[in-house]
Amino acid sequence: MSDQIPVGISACLLGDNVRFDGGHKRLAFAVEQLAPYVRFEAVCPEMAIGLPTPRPALRLVKGAGEVMLRHSNNATIDVTQAMQQFSEKKIAALNHLCGYIVCAKSPSCGMERVRVYSEKGDSARKSGVGLFTAELLRQMPWLPVEEDGRLTDPMLRENFVERVFALYELNMLWKKGLTRGRLMAFHSRYKLSLLAHSQPEYRELGRFVAAMDTWDSLEDFAVEYRSRLMTLLTHKTTRRNHTNVLMHVQGYFRRQLSSPQRQELTQLIDRYRQGIQPLLAPITLLKHYMAEYPDSYLAEQRYFEPYPEALRLRYGH
Ligand code: SF4
Repeated sequence: MSDQIPVGISACLLGDNVRFDGGHKRLAFAVEQLAPYVRFEAVCPEMAIGLPTPRPALRLVKGAGEVMLRHSNNATIDVTQAMQQFSEKKIAALNHLCGYIVCAKSPSCGMERVRVYSEKGDSARKSGVGLFTAELLRQMPWLPVEEDGRLTDPMLRENFVERVFALYELNMLWKKGLTRGRLMAFHSRYKLSLLAHSQPEYRELGRFVAAMDTWDSLEDFAVEYRSRLMTLLTHKTTRRNHTNVLMHVQGYFRRQLSSPQRQELTQLIDRYRQGIQPLLAPITLLKHYMAEYPDSYLAEQRYFEPYPEALRLRYGH
């Protein structure tokens, strides 16, 4: 089912020759690693508003008021309105997406630090957001959005993919029909994952979920839950939090393991804590014990497989 995960992407990152210079910015991680698990929906906002390729480069320009999108070599050609109208309409139809990968630095697609020029063109500050992506973030603030460049960082990459898979699972639950029981079960499946991101925020979200009955509309509750969940998952996981989670899981096998086995596991978790072993090492041993001594609660936890193992995202931890 996971090969159906809809993820938006700047078309040039898929290797389409849609850039102003007639080229592309193929992102190998998307095309080679992620592609088997997702269904990419490519958009080139500049082509979509009728610009050709190749074309004169665009730039963001800040005058007295709003940021505008203009031709770099001819300030009288302004496509701000066309881009805004297209973006508003297009993004309103993208509610089903579970993530978005945008092309960095572009005045249409960049997510942060896009150059914004002064009207005279004599200065530029790296402070802008591409107009299409700004609208995407405005309409869907819960959506995992990342840039191609940032996805080369193993932590950011893992974090992005985890959020995409979590949002997909939540969206599927929505599609199936929201019930209190299903939402509770979802939250419970994510307990260990959330603890690895932030213990205080997990506790706060737990209080929010416990008050589900006080909401008149389950739909409204789910909208707020989605927003809080995705914010929580955006926090980077830490070695310390993972260590606490691993020790917590270790507790489940207190009675089954022999003393040398317990010692081996404790040492492995400690070596992970010290940065000598990757996260995968203690998790693999714990999974081995989970297979040997099944526990229905642990078996349900997304923590042990938040996304397909073949993505090899946990090696960097
Ligand atoms: S960055 Fe965006 S607008 Fe530019 S070529 Fe890529 S998809 Fe098109």
